[in-house]
Amino acid sequence: MAVDQDILLSRLIELTRGFSTMVDLEPYLQSILSAASELTESESASLLEYDEVSQEFSFKFAPWFHRAAISSAKVPLYGSIAGWVFLQKKPLAIDDVTKDDRHYKAIDDISGFTTRSILCAPLVVHGKPVGVIEIFNKKDSYTGRDILILETLASLAANALQNDMLEKKVLSSQDETRKLDELKSEFIAITSHELRTPLGLILGHSTFLKELIGSEYKEQVDSIIRNASRLKDIIESLSSVYNYETGGSLVRSHMVSVGRVIEDVSASFHDMAKKKDIVLNIEVERNNELWVDIDSGKIAIVLSNLLKNALTFTNEGGQVAIRGEQQVECIKVSVEDNGLGIPAKDLPLVFDRFYQVESHLTRRHGGMGLGLSIAKVMIEMHGGDLWVESTEGVGSKFTFLLPVKQKSKLEVPPQPFVE
Ligand code: ADP
Repeated sequence: MAVDQDILLSRLIELTRGFSTMVDLEPYLQSILSAASELTESESASLLEYDEVSQEFSFKFAPWFHRAAISSAKVPLYGSIAGWVFLQKKPLAIDDVTKDDRHYKAIDDISGFTTRSILCAPLVVHGKPVGVIEIFNKKDSYTGRDILILETLASLAANALQNDMLEKKVLSSQDETRKLDELKSEFIAITSHELRTPLGLILGHSTFLKELIGSEYKEQVDSIIRNASRLKDIIESLSSVYNYETGGSLVRSHMVSVGRVIEDVSASFHDMAKKKDIVLNIEVERNNELWVDIDSGKIAIVLSNLLKNALTFTNEGGQVAIRGEQQVECIKVSVEDNGLGIPAKDLPLVFDRFYQVESHLTRRHGGMGLGLSIAKVMIEMHGGDLWVESTEGVGSKFTFLLPVKQKSKLEVPPQPFVE
């Protein structure tokens, strides 16, 4: 007598639910095989996976009493029921395998199991067969209803296998990305270290030469010094990124007036602003110099990077404002411009290392896409936060918060301050 309709339905629902909560593949496939045997009143069930290289099937799951015997057994693609079902991508029921040439008898010999009848269905993922599921020895003949049940279970098993494959792929690509990232950091560390010494010599000697030679060659020597200095800046940026990533950078904090840092940094950009006829406004509350315990060198770099960008990406005659204000538990600083702005699609990425907005004529500006990522890490090292609001064609506003009571993310022992 066939299994009751209600039992059948509730078992299938249970397995479908199990699919969405599946943690491990093996117990899930085992429960599918048990259901396949029970719901079709078969003696046994197994799941075979196809290997494209050897063109054979191996037993992914089989009843425990056969597992050891057939764990290394292979079923050929040609000359087996599994192979026929796999190639035809359709189920096959055989009531008496002794009368069918397609039956591969070697497995019975190995396992000591006697196969009388068989129902086999393909496991298909995105139209491609990946294996088969088989049930054996029903007392009566296999029916259309049994085929339907096995096909349903086969599609659940195929989805579970696919999920498992995808998960493994994601894990291995995450692993690869991590390894590549490590390689990149190592490369940055070695390259910047190796370049620093010869570059220091070039700068030193050319500065010395500038003193010695007359004005005749001043332009050429100045060009060497200018370009070598630029290379030095690039190397410093690269090694800063590496140091922050590896925790090799320390916060040397002391009480500093953020108001004064803002003034000093702005003063160094005065010429750049003037050249582009950009109005540079500083807005800091009167009678509040914004004292806070920070690493002034790092916060000056943050402000320089933000200000340099604001002036670079604002057209002539534009406006840039730097604001500093005291808040309850932090100091808030923003750099706002009415320049090109950043397209919405790029906004979540601008703090990534080496990211540049293509449409920003970045080639002409010649940056490396490191300024913002360095700024963000430096602010985060102080336990603060840096973010951006921007509208393309309207302007950008970069804001950072520095907590007044530092809870730096790096455990740093007290350092003597050396300017
Ligand atoms: P870079 O040193 O190349 O400027 P950053 O990390 O400082 O790199 O900035 C990344 C990118 O973000 C820039 O190339 C630019 O496209 C965009 N960007 C940064 N600041 C601004 C700004 N104030 N206005 C418009 N775009 C900006």
